[in-house]
Amino acid sequence: MSCDKRLKDSQTCVICMPVRRGGRNVVTVEIFIENYEKMKQRAIQKRLNIKEYVNDFLQLYLEKEEFLSRVAPSLSVDSYEGNRITLKDTNKKVLVDVFYSNGELQCDVDQSNNCIHTKFIWMIPEISKIKTNDTRIKE
Ligand SMILES: [Zn+2]
Repeated sequence: MSCDKRLKDSQTCVICMPVRRGGRNVVTVEIFIENYEKMKQRAIQKRLNIKEYVNDFLQLYLEKEEFLSRVAPSLSVDSYEGNRITLKDTNKKVLVDVFYSNGELQCDVDQSNNCIHTKFIWMIPEISKIKTNDTRIKE
C-alpha cells in the first residue's frame, strides 16, 4: 500500500499516522530496495542500526539544505546537461552556466572557478548529475 494518493485537508492517512516507539514519534515509509541496500551497507560500516543511520543521514541532509538556503538564498538549480549545470541567480537576475572541466568547475559569468556559483554547486547533490567523462583527457 502507498500513501501517495491525495487526501483532503481534513483527512489523515492511516499509514502516515505517527506512533510512539523508543520515546520518539515515528512513521513508516517505503524505501526502494536498491537504496535500502546501500544505506544498510553504510550503517554496518558505521556500526549503527539502519534506523539510526537513515535518520542521521536525513537530518544532516536537511540541515545542509537549510544552511544553503541561509547562505545562498538567491541561488537554485535551473537545469543540467552534459558537463554543465545552469543556476538561477535571482540576485543578479541571470542564468549562470557553470562547466566541469579537468576536475574544476568554471563559471561563465564570473570567469572564475572560485565564485559563489562554483562553491554552491560543489555543495549541492545535483553535482552528481554532471558528466565528468566529456572532457577527460584520453590516456
Ligand atoms: Zn560565478
